[in-house]
Amino acid sequence: MICLYVHIPFCRERCPYCDFFLVTKPGFVERFFEALAVETTAKASLFAGQAIEAIHFGGGTPSLVSPSFIDAWLSQISGLAQISSETEITLEANPEDLSPASLDALQALGVNRLSIGVQSFADRKLKALGRAHSAADARRVVSEALERFRSVSIDLMCGAGGETLAEWESDLRAALDLRLQHISVYMLTLEEKTRLWRDVRKGLRRLPGEEAQAAMYRLAAELLCGAGYGHYEISNFALEGRHSRYNLASWMREPYLGFGPAAHSFLVSGEAQTRFSNASSLTKYLADPAGAVDFREALTDEQRFDEQVFLSLRIRKPLSVGFLRKGHKLGHQHLDSVLVRLQEQGWIGVESGEVSLTEAGFLFADLVAAELLSA
Ligand code: SF4
Repeated sequence: MICLYVHIPFCRERCPYCDFFLVTKPGFVERFFEALAVETTAKASLFAGQAIEAIHFGGGTPSLVSPSFIDAWLSQISGLAQISSETEITLEANPEDLSPASLDALQALGVNRLSIGVQSFADRKLKALGRAHSAADARRVVSEALERFRSVSIDLMCGAGGETLAEWESDLRAALDLRLQHISVYMLTLEEKTRLWRDVRKGLRRLPGEEAQAAMYRLAAELLCGAGYGHYEISNFALEGRHSRYNLASWMREPYLGFGPAAHSFLVSGEAQTRFSNASSLTKYLADPAGAVDFREALTDEQRFDEQVFLSLRIRKPLSVGFLRKGHKLGHQHLDSVLVRLQEQGWIGVESGEVSLTEAGFLFADLVAAELLSA
């Protein structure tokens, strides 16, 4: 069983806060899909014959390209591996690209889960975030998607400049009214070298402080959990059984293979675990689709331990104290004192020899991981 990820690196224009790998050159779409087919053939031995648990088209903006390209690649995969009606096939989309006809086309080619970059249901906030769609577009598209796909997810972003807690609550309530299967909540973060970063440095924009953002995050958890969503990862909420299988597999350290520029892979073969990333350059990717990599490494025992701790905390998967003792670098006594302190802060619970993050600890997952790793 393996998951596949495809990075489709095209956007109309770059949003001011975004630092993902992408290009704004639609003229390269056809050549990209030709290269993707070459890469897929070259890497077929890594997944051929296996059952595909999930396929995730991310980006970039996969909804920007014609569904016929997605269809051709899925046909290539079906000739090599087992895609069934149980395979989760997710496509990330932006509201401005979607019409009833394009939704029908995506559904017809087998996409069964849509992840829509809504970000907000308020026009003022969408403008502040530099998004191309309106609140009305978002509502229309989500309703049309819910009629067609077995699972629909939206991204909501909190912390756009000037947003009040009441406005954020309106966004959350609008999402709840739609009865989506999945909601991702992201705090707007300042990534270096983005337009937003430059504007903040010049004093042209202000973002809410840490405490204001934390209050928004806590409100999201309270309202969404109160409405029956499970908070299964720091930023992700889902109705029962509607979590993202691709994302969950990657956090559970299950194997996944990435295609396209900047795509990451994690492969397991016997005892060996390898991570690699394709080159973050469309030029290099088009020149050598299967060979251009930024890094490739076989994980050491220490890296595996660190990943296991870091990723388990994200999804609140319990970690045994015995396991933590084996990898903690400063000895048992130090670890025990760390556990007591983190419990007193209310960030972890320890029960029957197992440690897991509390709901309050979600906001501090990175700090907790650093303490448990004694990094
Ligand atoms: S649409 Fe998404 S991937 Fe593209 S620039 Fe905006 S945030 Fe980044």
